[in-house]
Amino acid sequence: MSNLERDPREVASGGVATVSREPVRLDLAAREVPLGGVRSIVVRRTLPHRDRRTIGAWCFVDDYGPTVPGTGMVVPPHPHTGLQTVTWLLDGEVHHQDSVGSDQAVRPGALSLMTAGRGIAHAETSPPLAAGDRGMRGLQLWVALPEDARHGLPHFEHHDDLPRLGDGALRATVIVGSIGGVSSPAHAYTPLLGAEVSLSAGGAGALPLDPGHEHGVLALDPGVSVDGAALPAATLRYLGCGRDHLDLAATGSAARLLLLGGAPFEEELLMWWNFVGRTHDEIVGFRDEWEAGRDSGGSRFGRVDGYAGPALPAPPLPGTRLLPRPFSRG
Ligand code: MN
Repeated sequence: MSNLERDPREVASGGVATVSREPVRLDLAAREVPLGGVRSIVVRRTLPHRDRRTIGAWCFVDDYGPTVPGTGMVVPPHPHTGLQTVTWLLDGEVHHQDSVGSDQAVRPGALSLMTAGRGIAHAETSPPLAAGDRGMRGLQLWVALPEDARHGLPHFEHHDDLPRLGDGALRATVIVGSIGGVSSPAHAYTPLLGAEVSLSAGGAGALPLDPGHEHGVLALDPGVSVDGAALPAATLRYLGCGRDHLDLAATGSAARLLLLGGAPFEEELLMWWNFVGRTHDEIVGFRDEWEAGRDSGGSRFGRVDGYAGPALPAPPLPGTRLLPRPFSRG
């Protein structure tokens, strides 16, 4: 998915990048982002947030949908730099096409991981739903690439056989990284963790964590308790570092949540629109190159050959210089 926000200034401004070395409990409420495009879709964004820049290298967390019958999602070709996109569906289906030739149906339980490196373009569409279908709902997550990987060649990987752990009350699918020695095959460039956790009605359990990493939990359904405290739906709870396990429970009906974590990302970051970079001038260069070649494909981003229709124009830059968000050890 693209960041289709008409005025993406808030993404550039990021948020607090001080890592908490001790366990904390900081609830980040989602803001609903109005997206443009042919058909609109509701997006709940919890990262970046004015109170938090990143959790590990996770730098962008959108929870979108469900779509309603008669609508679908159409995101025309758009560019990315310096990040990986994680497409994780909860319901429905998305068709991914990109400028390295990928053409992939994305369904719940399977991971689509696109590494932009120095530059890539992709398009995402979901077919309109018939009456009675469940709406499409999913997560669009971005991972910032470290300096030694962000200038590399773009590539795409799809994993439909991810490892699982747990029992009837608590089941986890390891999307990226490892939990308790159970590892995803997905390629990560910094120590990272992403997992979908499903709790049965009234179910509870614990997951082991790496105390050297910081963590966060996003409630995907109502009725979730994290670390003994109720977590409202569409809220991302930042937990800091220093935990060796996490207690999770569904207080009512069955519920899902997303566990994110990783080694604190200690590099400066500048995010604007769909670009992750380090400086204002670098972002301006990415934008200029996209605008000059967005339909011809004559740029670092290439062309999404399988998509019929024009690519997405970049919004105008703000009148002031974009400022990167430095990391602070706190
Ligand atoms: Mn995208």
